[in-house]
Amino acid sequence: MSDYHIVIIGGGPAGLTAGLYAVRAGLKAVLIEKALIGGQVNSTYLVENYPGFPGGISGPALMEKMKQQLEELELPIITDDVQEITTTGAGFELKLTERAINAGSIVIGSGAAPATLGVPGEDRLRGRGVSYCATCDGAFFRDKRILVIGGGDSAVDEAVFLTRFASQVSIVHRRDALRAEKFIQQRAFDNPKIDFIWDTVVEEVVGEQKLEKVVLKNVKTNKLSSLKADGMFVYVGLRPNTEFIRDLLKLDEQGFIITDEQMRTSCEGIFAAGDVRSKIVRQISTAVGDGAVAASLAEKYLTATDKI
Ligand code: NAP
Repeated sequence: MSDYHIVIIGGGPAGLTAGLYAVRAGLKAVLIEKALIGGQVNSTYLVENYPGFPGGISGPALMEKMKQQLEELELPIITDDVQEITTTGAGFELKLTERAINAGSIVIGSGAAPATLGVPGEDRLRGRGVSYCATCDGAFFRDKRILVIGGGDSAVDEAVFLTRFASQVSIVHRRDALRAEKFIQQRAFDNPKIDFIWDTVVEEVVGEQKLEKVVLKNVKTNKLSSLKADGMFVYVGLRPNTEFIRDLLKLDEQGFIITDEQMRTSCEGIFAAGDVRSKIVRQISTAVGDGAVAASLAEKYLTATDKI
């Protein structure tokens, strides 16, 4: 007999929703989160496209509400880091930092983290002008010059947020058209503090104690230039948190977990939900949907295999 019917890995919208459905299905469940409950949404200053909140809601406030709902249902939460998952005859063993637990099924909602540019100087100046979280660090750049790298929803959304503090925000994008949702784009085009540096990538980040300037390259002309900046916020996509299951599950070429529409992974009994999954639309609303499907299918799997 396993310790738990279901272990949910990750405390973002996908994992919390899986927890909600698991408890309500009468499963003996536990949620494991290595950091703060809420995941990436905690770094979002305003969520405007999650239904039910006219005018929007702050990311941390939304996640606090989801957390409260689970506390009401008394879902146990363990703060720990899953190192490895192995299959056992009866199900799965999850190796945590200092102990192991076992379960009949698993929902992985471990999410993703901001990707880095991988250019010289970026890592050394991280936290000294280079940031991946405007909500966390934006206020340090009052009346300063900021560069935002990327052209997706995150880059453009966060660039608009950063104009609350900065004197000027330049969006540096490798093409001449943004990827972001049109509504978000228009807000940036209309903001007098925002300008755009098109067809351009970052070659190097320069500074002694803190960021001083950024070396840029125009990808059409190959011309290099340098631009003084106090802050550089990088939003060039996501890197999945899948190290711990790399050898167990089928992943896509970027490392996201491949599932079918029922959130089933390549290993029977393990489901994946939210941003960690290989998919096109990464939103809170889709993560919530994934979490509901994953827990519901896990319950069916446990029943069909006589694990409950
Ligand atoms: P994303 O949609 O993958 O966009 C990444 C951006 O970075 C793209 O514009 C890409 O350029 C650029 N890029 C990638 N690698 C680069 C490199 N090495 N150097 C320079 N630029 C590079 O990532 P995201 O904006 O972080 O969003 C992630 C997911 O969360 C998306 O599904 C997004 O829709 C969702 N999201 C939604 C909201 C919202 O609904 N409000 C807010 C935030 C995030 P190309 O365009 O040329 O590929």
